[in-house]
Amino acid sequence: MANLVKSIIYNIYGVVQGVGFRPFVHRIALAHRITGKVINRGSFVEVVAQGSDEDLQNFRNALAAEAPERANIVDIKEQVVELEVFEEFSILESQADKGAIFIPPDIATCHQCRKELFDPADRRYLHSFINCTACGPRLTILEALPYDRERTSMKHFPMCQACEKEYYSLASRRYDAQPVCCNDCGPEVYILGSNLRGGTAITECRKLLMQGKIAAIKGIGGFHLACDGRNIEAVNRLRELKHRPRKPFAVMMNNVDTVRKECILSEKALSWLDGCEKPILLLAKKSDCTLPDILAPGNPTLGVMLPYAPLQMLLFDYPDGVEFTDTLVMTSGNVSGAPICRTEEDAWQEISSFCDIILSHNRDIRLRADDSVMRLYNNEPYMIRRSRGFAPLPIKVDLPLKGEVLAIGGELKNAFCIAKDQLFYIAPHIGDMEDVRSNEALKDSVKLFSELLECKVDRTISDMHPGYHTTGIAGELSSNVLKIQHHYAHILSCMAENNYLEPVIGVAMDGTGYGSDGTIWGGEILLASPDKFERFTHIAPFPQAGGDAASREGWRIAVGLLEKYLPEQAGKYAEKLDLCSSVEYKMLSAMIKNNINTVVSTSVGRLFDGVSALLGIARNSTFEGDAAMSLEFAAQRWYEANKDDLPGIDSSFAEKGIMATDELFIRLANERIKGVDVGFLAYSFHKLLADMITASCVQARSLSNVNVCALSGGSFQNMLLLDLCREKLLKNGFRVLLHKLVPANDGGISLGQALYGVYNIKQF
Ligand SMILES: [Zn+2]
Ligand SMILES: [Zn+2]
Repeated sequence: MANLVKSIIYNIYGVVQGVGFRPFVHRIALAHRITGKVINRGSFVEVVAQGSDEDLQNFRNALAAEAPERANIVDIKEQVVELEVFEEFSILESQADKGAIFIPPDIATCHQCRKELFDPADRRYLHSFINCTACGPRLTILEALPYDRERTSMKHFPMCQACEKEYYSLASRRYDAQPVCCNDCGPEVYILGSNLRGGTAITECRKLLMQGKIAAIKGIGGFHLACDGRNIEAVNRLRELKHRPRKPFAVMMNNVDTVRKECILSEKALSWLDGCEKPILLLAKKSDCTLPDILAPGNPTLGVMLPYAPLQMLLFDYPDGVEFTDTLVMTSGNVSGAPICRTEEDAWQEISSFCDIILSHNRDIRLRADDSVMRLYNNEPYMIRRSRGFAPLPIKVDLPLKGEVLAIGGELKNAFCIAKDQLFYIAPHIGDMEDVRSNEALKDSVKLFSELLECKVDRTISDMHPGYHTTGIAGELSSNVLKIQHHYAHILSCMAENNYLEPVIGVAMDGTGYGSDGTIWGGEILLASPDKFERFTHIAPFPQAGGDAASREGWRIAVGLLEKYLPEQAGKYAEKLDLCSSVEYKMLSAMIKNNINTVVSTSVGRLFDGVSALLGIARNSTFEGDAAMSLEFAAQRWYEANKDDLPGIDSSFAEKGIMATDELFIRLANERIKGVDVGFLAYSFHKLLADMITASCVQARSLSNVNVCALSGGSFQNMLLLDLCREKLLKNGFRVLLHKLVPANDGGISLGQALYGVYNIKQF
């Protein structure tokens, strides 16, 4: 009978495929004298290990501690068994099992590949598609699972002999790298509608950009529109063409030195900026920043990213002698409101009139993925748009949940989510749903994504809003639809991300969402659990007149607030503060009094707009959050200038445990009329709102015994409000849950929807 010895089987879950995980296991096995095998099981990697107890322990430690940077281990399960003796350690080919599925996200070009890209002696010198086991496109080229070349857009490019050799050699950096290719066998770049290809095409594009032209450039998850970030005329022209007068543009800088020169860059920020996801990172501009303000008008921060694809690196540093800029505007290549262009046909139809040249290539993009956008808060990531590099890494919740659901997400910043048992896969950002193209993109993405995850879409969750396109799409996709209130979904999203499913006090500070009572909600304190919620309190209601216009024109909100809270003085104040013409005032006043095209609202986002107009900071918004951001910046500027000698702010009325935003607004209006400093008032507004939120949470705690607050909603992208709330809540002994890698804005609600669906699967 065969001799059996103690063996340990490790099942490793997470992103462990397409990231060089098996060669890594092989390497540490040799280092620790371990024999056995490693097998790719499709949904996990299985390792069988034999060795001395000490060697096994060291091997186990190395598995977790030394895993490749790109691997994302979610769980390691161990089992001790008796097996026949293995003489050596070997890598076995894939033997797929069914189970949890981990699709690798796209990975930014690694430093070694970058080095080879610019090394004249390397056979991939200046190859626009260089990649390796540790970097390159993944999700965006995937057609089906398991992840193998023939199921990606690389299937049209058979490997040459040299590439094949690397692909099969364990010692190579390209062992098992599915998109591997080179100058001989890989895809090619070209200028659409011309015969310029390869390096000539790149040089032409560089020349035109330096002449102030605009280029559409095909990237990893879609097209960008690019121009020289230092050329004010070019940036202005792009703003005009995109109908985007003020919304900040993201920039791509050639290297870290340029970023350091223009922005404040902490070590932590650098690790994200230059990490394997390479998101757009919001960084504070330096006081001597030399970039034009028009990139992000009036904004103390700038969205910055580094080149993350070889073509982008070549754009900056192609050795053709062209003097090139260190900063490119790199904005999503789309028509405002529509999703990012994915194919050349999209680009021709939608953005060719915005640009002078289209630099494209023949590697197809299968799934759209915009650039992710994040900032740091307290040295932790704070996501604004979760997409390329992060999607579709799952969020795991430690509850024995069972079932599959599709959560369709919200109407703005849509990103849907598929839940399978304990795992929640949030898809890349798609966009705003008023545009019919976004609706189509959403349906396409759901189809591909659900196929990849082997999920039947027979249970869907949507928002309660009867007018949302997403509500309709959820119904089209399945007849089994569960609906959930918008702000409750925000809070559940924060709970899921923090893996905290006990009851919480949910603080949802948001734009607008449809309330359970048919009014517009937005500034809500909820008592929430995964199965139900109760509306504990909310900000003081006010009339929101003029339908959609109210969300763009904050002066309408300001007048509505005056009409409601200071009816005697409203007309006089509106005139004195130049909120609108007397004709406009009369019309709006009549609309409100007669309840025409007017809804009751507790939207804190709109309250910010109204206060911004009241204080004369921004009368209108040219994009979502415009006026509210200007208010935040004014408050921030005032605070920075006065923080060493802060004047007292009377907050007695804010400590009463109710959200007395009516009293707050009345005070601001009266003081503004008296001519009190606008910066001081802007700061007071933030401070007193945070005080009221905290006082309400204290009251909610005394009634519910819940001591944990979850903060979510788009208004918590306001860093001053977030910081003031968090500080004050901590001071009052609360545990505070914040978002990190899932957005606090509507881009994050699908996670909350999905949690609700799986947790309450019996309700379908
Ligand atoms: Zn690489
Ligand atoms: Zn090749």
